[in-house]
Amino acid sequence: MTRVFSGIQPTGHLTLGNYLGAMRRWAEVDQHRADSLFCVVDLHALTVEHDPARLRRLSRQTATLLLAAGLDPEACTLFLQSHVDEHTRLSYLLECVATDGEMRRMIQYKEKAARQRERGGSLRLSLLTYPVLMAADILAYGADEVPVGEDQTQHVELARDVAVRFNQRYGHTFVVPRTTLPPVAARVMNLQDPTRKMGKSDESGTGVVYLLDEPDVVRRKVLRAVTDSGREVVYDRVERPGLANLLDVLAACTGGDPESLAGGYDSYGSLKKDTAEAVVEVLRPVRERHRELCADPAYVEGVLREGAEKARALARPTVDTAYRAIGL
Ligand code: ADP
Repeated sequence: MTRVFSGIQPTGHLTLGNYLGAMRRWAEVDQHRADSLFCVVDLHALTVEHDPARLRRLSRQTATLLLAAGLDPEACTLFLQSHVDEHTRLSYLLECVATDGEMRRMIQYKEKAARQRERGGSLRLSLLTYPVLMAADILAYGADEVPVGEDQTQHVELARDVAVRFNQRYGHTFVVPRTTLPPVAARVMNLQDPTRKMGKSDESGTGVVYLLDEPDVVRRKVLRAVTDSGREVVYDRVERPGLANLLDVLAACTGGDPESLAGGYDSYGSLKKDTAEAVVEVLRPVRERHRELCADPAYVEGVLREGAEKARALARPTVDTAYRAIGL
């Protein structure tokens, strides 16, 4: 059976980008057709400045929202990365296979490092090595597929390279994983600045729709989305990124395709109005289930505990094999 692994960082409140790019597919497709593991990657959240109490809270909140989005502990394994030591055990071995040049070429590293340098802060070494830990997350489980948004494809590519190199040098140990992307909305853009992706660690919060935003807040954000001064509704990601983003979001929420949807609108206003309502409807059940789950934190803790046990049992043999293969 196909094995699927993916993760999400507890670095802020989850966004519509996380949902359309990754989480919704995990819940609606992956967990039903594959042996799936989903992980709140709390160790990755340590790569940038963090507050310990907030991180602990956000890790539980993120797990709760994943359950609210439809992950079913009977159908998949949901756990916290830090509960399974195999991730860090394997990460060190992979640091001995990956190169520093590969790390420095990563787009996300370059962007995050530049932002931090602008603020005058020093960089955590773990920010540089982040993709190696991510490779360990994936390879420890022998994942065939990694369902992610477009921004993560370079990191999955690195995991592939590292797996191939390790296998060549030390004998076949790892499955070589591949990325799977959603058909639309693989990169949801910020509504106020459609040249940037909608990210949960965006401090300003403007232009970002959060999964737990009240319906009126969602409507306001979508109606105020930046477009351009044209009138005609066309789908063009390069020339009309704001408009294309709205069409992508509408298509992802209603199941249509963005180009043919564009033909059905003669004004930006009506497109925004329909997009706002479509987003509100997609998020409604998530918010409702979230409210119920919040009343039962012990249930979420139980799911995470059991998930970690299952995950550990799967990862340990692969990681032990890697230790033997490399000569330890
Ligand atoms: P973030 O960038 O919001 O901190 P993560 O790095 O935790 O999110 O990514 C969790 C998943 O959500 C990944 O699969 C990532 O590709 C996806 N994702 C994040 N932002 C977006 C977006 N704006 N559009 C589509 N997918 C996204």
